[in-house]
Amino acid sequence: MPRYELIKEEVASIAKYVPGKSINDIVRAYGLDPASVIKLGSNENPLGPSPKAVEALINDAKAISIYPSADARELVEAISEYTGIAAEHIVASGPGMDGLLDGLARLLISRGDEVILTTPTFSYYEISARANGAVPVYVQREEDFSVDIEKLINAITPRTKIIFLCSPNNPSGNVIPEEDILRIAEATDALVFVDEAYVEFADRNIAHLVPEYDNIIVGRTFSKAFGLAGMRIGYGMLPIWLKEEYMKIATPFNVSSAAVAAGVAALSDAEHLNMSIELARTGKKYLQDNIPFKVYDTQANFVLVDVAPHKARDVTTELLKKGIIVRDCTSFANAGDSLIRITIGTEEQNKKVVEGFSSI
Ligand SMILES: *Cc1c(COP(=O)(O)O)cnc(C)c1O
Repeated sequence: MPRYELIKEEVASIAKYVPGKSINDIVRAYGLDPASVIKLGSNENPLGPSPKAVEALINDAKAISIYPSADARELVEAISEYTGIAAEHIVASGPGMDGLLDGLARLLISRGDEVILTTPTFSYYEISARANGAVPVYVQREEDFSVDIEKLINAITPRTKIIFLCSPNNPSGNVIPEEDILRIAEATDALVFVDEAYVEFADRNIAHLVPEYDNIIVGRTFSKAFGLAGMRIGYGMLPIWLKEEYMKIATPFNVSSAAVAAGVAALSDAEHLNMSIELARTGKKYLQDNIPFKVYDTQANFVLVDVAPHKARDVTTELLKKGIIVRDCTSFANAGDSLIRITIGTEEQNKKVVEGFSSI
């Protein structure tokens, strides 16, 4: 007999996280040849990882009997060099940026605290906050997915602990202007978490604000532009006072030695990074010009498509049957039922996507 009474009350209200579909999922469901399936549902790098990262992993394999450094020192220093932000502000995190979100929620949230979410947005903020007893407060984005700053500031209460801003936003791809982030940070005693998972594809970032403000945090990941989603590495840039508190509760050795080796090598491969960014830029234009529905402008490696009057679920299923994995956004809060998110792929993959749409 399940003993649900043993589960924390906070967990009962959490909706299960809905990940993008895997190749195995749809090979099984539709009897497809795995080699013919293209996976554009999770915003991974279609070029794969940097060859330098793969080589570093192989070379490091024999060291896996040894615990990594407790604070992933080598990786933190490489991140500091890459971002230009001092190492004393930086924490490397595993698993992925999700590990950072989880750690911050454990550090900051007590039962009844509020977190503000600008919906539709990335859903793990809500899950990690709720698991620690937070009450999520939704501030719905406008028609064009911009955030109404007045509306957001009005949603702040004395119980607000964290305001989550995703820029570029998943799933809409738009950024939040720096002056808006500053207005919010200056209007509140709460922490402002800016998720820059897709920042390498964008024309701006706000990392330089971290050393200047005592309540701005920036989260990043190696899963998207760096092509290391399977390594599960993220990092945070935090005010120094907060990093010291965070390190008290961070899971010991949460970044594996393999992740440190691969991350350092990926950061050293500017050529692979630039190729990845360029591929997204040209692919975006092609998809915008050729998908026969409204395609929102994006500063990320995905496009958001509104397939109305069709339902996202039906169009997603049609594409899945053709071996094209895209993300139905219906499970995102306040996203409606006609949005699909498509990772920008290689030229060949993007062509397949456009062909896939031709029969819809
Ligand atoms: C992918 C993603 C993350 C999580 O990345 P991991 O480092 O793989 O955990 C965080 N935020 C957003 C917006 C994402 O799209």
